[in-house]
Amino acid sequence: MSGPARPSLVVSEIFGPTVSGEGPTLGQRCSFLRLGGCNLTCTWCDSAWTWDASRHDLRAELTRMGAETVVGRLLDTGVRFVIVSGGEPLLQQGYPGWGAVLRGLTGAGVRVEVETNGTVEPTGESVRLLARFIVSPKLGHSGVARERRINGPALKALAATGKAVFKVVCRDADDVAEAEEELVAAHGIPARRVWVMPEGTDSATLSRHLAAIADPAVAAGFNVTTRLHVHAWGDERGR
Ligand code: SF4
Repeated sequence: MSGPARPSLVVSEIFGPTVSGEGPTLGQRCSFLRLGGCNLTCTWCDSAWTWDASRHDLRAELTRMGAETVVGRLLDTGVRFVIVSGGEPLLQQGYPGWGAVLRGLTGAGVRVEVETNGTVEPTGESVRLLARFIVSPKLGHSGVARERRINGPALKALAATGKAVFKVVCRDADDVAEAEEELVAAHGIPARRVWVMPEGTDSATLSRHLAAIADPAVAAGFNVTTRLHVHAWGDERGR
């Protein structure tokens, strides 16, 4: 007879030390835990190997990993700041491994933040243990239908944690205007909590989009970020 399953998570990759590439922590030393699975299908997704079975062999890409192993590997990187990314990591909040990993890390003095696409409401356990939610709602250019990518109650619940910042991928001034409409006008999110980020997986594309969005973003009261890891390492995985 087999005993209860060990707490585990579906993991894509664990890497670090590196630096946070985006948003309010840009440039800070950190390690990453990238989880598998996503509920959206953005056309320009830069981590499609975590969810897109039509283009990637997910059985080779994703591993069910025990919580103790996940915590041990992250502690071994020696950095006391971990960003949980994906895919959409909050889809795994219901797994016993989720709480076990968060407790293991925070109990060892590690600050843990999560990146989310804003379509999944955080559980009480996530709100208690995570230091910050980096919420990245997707705009029309993602190619995903609005009813799938904008979840009002989830955005409201994330904003209500008091721990959320918002990061929106944009390519041009129209995207910045759409971000204002969706976040500030429709959902009451203060502009000062929003970072606008250029889309791109190479320096030239990032620079072109950044030049197009910087002025309208500042005019709208938003913050602006680039993607530092792309400038440093291109679209290399695990950086
Ligand atoms: S939400 Fe993020 S991980 Fe999911 S498809 Fe869109 S860009 Fe990729």
